[in-house]
Amino acid sequence: MSEVSKEYNFASIEEKWVDKWQPSAYYFDWDSKKPQYIIDTPPPYPTGNFHIGNALNWCYIDFVARYKRMRGYNVMFPQGWDCHGLPTEVKVEETYHITKNQVPRDEFRRLCEQLTMQAIERFHQSMGRLGLSIDWSNEYVTMKPEYYVRTQKSFVRMYENGQIYQAEHPVNWCPRCGTAIAFAEVEYDSRTTNLNYMRFLAEDGCVEIATTRPELLPACVAVAVNPEDERYRKYIGKEVRVPLFDYPVPVFADPAVDPNFGTGIVMICTFGDRQDVRWWMEHHLPLRQALDREGKLTEIAGPYTGLSTEEAKKRIIQDMQDKGIVFKQEPLDQNVGLCWRCKTPIEILSGRQWFVRIDPEEIKKTSEEIEWVPPHMQVRLKNWADSVEWDWCISRQRIFATPIPVWYCRRCGEPLVAEEKWLPLDPTRTSPPVKCRCGSDEFVPERDVLDTWMDSSISALAVAGWPDRADMRMPTQLRPQGHDIIRTWAFYTILRSKALTGMKPWDTILINGMALGEDGHKMSKSLNNFIRPEEVFETNGADALRQWAAMGGAPGNDIMFQWKEITAASRFQQKLWSIYRFSALLMAKTSEAPGQVDRWLLGELDSLIEATTKAMDHFQFDEAIKAIRAFAWEVLADNYIELVKARLYGSDGPEKRAAQNTLYTAIETLMRLMAPIAPFLSEEIYHSMMKESVHLQSWPETSGTAVDPEGLAIKEIAAALRRYKAERGLALNAPLPGIVVYHPSILETTDLQGVANSAVESRTGKPEIELKPVAVRPQMKILGPRFKDRAGKIIKALSAMSPVGIERQRASGQIRVEVEGETVDVPTEAVEVVVETLSAGEAVDVLNVGSATVLVRR
Ligand SMILES: [Zn+2]
Ligand SMILES: [Zn+2]
Repeated sequence: MSEVSKEYNFASIEEKWVDKWQPSAYYFDWDSKKPQYIIDTPPPYPTGNFHIGNALNWCYIDFVARYKRMRGYNVMFPQGWDCHGLPTEVKVEETYHITKNQVPRDEFRRLCEQLTMQAIERFHQSMGRLGLSIDWSNEYVTMKPEYYVRTQKSFVRMYENGQIYQAEHPVNWCPRCGTAIAFAEVEYDSRTTNLNYMRFLAEDGCVEIATTRPELLPACVAVAVNPEDERYRKYIGKEVRVPLFDYPVPVFADPAVDPNFGTGIVMICTFGDRQDVRWWMEHHLPLRQALDREGKLTEIAGPYTGLSTEEAKKRIIQDMQDKGIVFKQEPLDQNVGLCWRCKTPIEILSGRQWFVRIDPEEIKKTSEEIEWVPPHMQVRLKNWADSVEWDWCISRQRIFATPIPVWYCRRCGEPLVAEEKWLPLDPTRTSPPVKCRCGSDEFVPERDVLDTWMDSSISALAVAGWPDRADMRMPTQLRPQGHDIIRTWAFYTILRSKALTGMKPWDTILINGMALGEDGHKMSKSLNNFIRPEEVFETNGADALRQWAAMGGAPGNDIMFQWKEITAASRFQQKLWSIYRFSALLMAKTSEAPGQVDRWLLGELDSLIEATTKAMDHFQFDEAIKAIRAFAWEVLADNYIELVKARLYGSDGPEKRAAQNTLYTAIETLMRLMAPIAPFLSEEIYHSMMKESVHLQSWPETSGTAVDPEGLAIKEIAAALRRYKAERGLALNAPLPGIVVYHPSILETTDLQGVANSAVESRTGKPEIELKPVAVRPQMKILGPRFKDRAGKIIKALSAMSPVGIERQRASGQIRVEVEGETVDVPTEAVEVVVETLSAGEAVDVLNVGSATVLVRR
């Protein structure tokens, strides 16, 4: 075996293995007879760079993938890229200083694709360097026709089943992004605004109404009061006139009106909020659209047409104040819906959009068939399902997305949905190969595109081979994902999987936490707590970052990035390397039967295998790495190796060969247990021992060795002897005059002799021990004050007496001495008797160690 360097050189070793590992080792085998384990890996948005949060989540996936491979599963760890969507469009607009409407649609799409491919390449680099065992034969890119043909097929099938429909319906709208968005994409934040009190004219006088959105006055279609509210009962069924715009609207009663808010009368606009939509539907109110798609006021706003909502609000309030219509303003804290991408307040606009039907009960029922890790995360999905009021709006008024494969007849307006065999296609580039039912062959393409969640919500289906493979592999086994996208990705995937295959998408969903900065806040460049994975690769290597991820705690918890954890990981790697360096020339695979101490270690190794297996099965990676560290550091290095050094360095024989084999077994097993978490270090050590990749090996099985009680006793006796020497200031290798160990059974003494550097004899049973008083030490500080000038004489008398006699008196509670013919009572605490321990007449020190008694000759 060649010389092993003293320092673990993580940089060169990790880079070497990145180059050497064959990607094909991780390919899923569609023909394998092994049980499948398919992971529905998150497809990230390829914008920006692979960050620490990604690294954390992908480490978890890689731990599972590597572990399951070793457990004999046919594992698929695919990697997809969720390319479409606004972040990339915005990035292109920023990069080229354009807006999407300033360049042709195709050119804009080309720029988005180019930017995406560059980002994917950067992600590839980082993922490779992190040592992820991704199955690149199952990579998918949602913007490519090979993938979006599936999204389009799913659209066509769900349309044909009646699960997708087009309708005129209010939707959440981001005026900045210029597109409809789904409820799941609306975030709420509190803002302070003004509640404006104003007067509406009624038949007899006026009614007072408070609103936060006076700019929506031209969209007012009714006012409502609570039926129990005595104050306003007389107005129900009558009309009032909208101020400034001067047209009549009805007054109706609805129990949802809060009589304590404002004046107790609400103005209903199309649409100020979700409640307006509910009332609009229940009471069949007309639609007055006062805002256009850019958030500007429409013609019905008369003199305010074309103004932004902000300007219109200011001007309308001003005009109403001038006319005495607004008579009071007070500040109000309000929850405002924001676009999750750009944080612009959303509006609710009605328009013709495409929708996916949502059946909340079916989604909740399906979620029951899935194992949630940790279980409490399931509540988030159920709560969301219960709060959904409208179907999922899937049409977007953007460009970089999967085209909706639909045209409209120019003559009769009928929509024509593409047939599956025509797909993939972009209706803005291709005409349908058939005529409309009315005979016309002139069509207008659907220019709206699909919500990007329509692509990613079929990720499980896509990796399982839907829709083309006859041997489709649904359900998949694992969905790892963040808790921030339970209401989107998890919810939509369950919905789509059920709609398209009738099956749950996965057996288990594993929710991981977010990576926080060292200050406990979300990592961000502006907070200056941002760490790039590459920084850690350079300073401590990928395995150290992976160990930090493993140490992060139970799934679902957010975890802080901590350099001290990275340092601890590096220190552990160096420790393992030192163990290996020491062992490399001494260990050997032999068939020698293990001795007592070896069986103790092999028993501990079995416990480690059990603990690590259990932890990995339950995604408790922190438990796994803690158990491994404790074994390597305390059991193997501090105890076993120290115990067996004498045998390893000694002359050849059964005892030496047993230790060589035990050490070999321990290190070989440890490397296999470490392989999922620290693939580089374990490969380096395993490969140099076995000339094979550790990542092609099976997971360690327990050998059935129980911890040997004799071996355990020897380990504890060795520790007691080390303490004994330390307490007496003796060097650890200082020889002792002789050691006799009494234990219920005979112990093997070679290792103890080695550790104590002394002769050790093992006997069964208990030693005969005699305690012999050998000297008397009168205590002057008690005798002096008590007996004054007689103290000297008392001490002299005590010293003349036999220690055995004094001890006998002391035990009876009273010591009497004769001084000048007089009997004096001396308190027992005034005399200390020195006792020596004797065994077979020899002076010894006694160490009680569990069921063993150790006599050390003095
Ligand atoms: Zn937006
Ligand atoms: Zn037609």
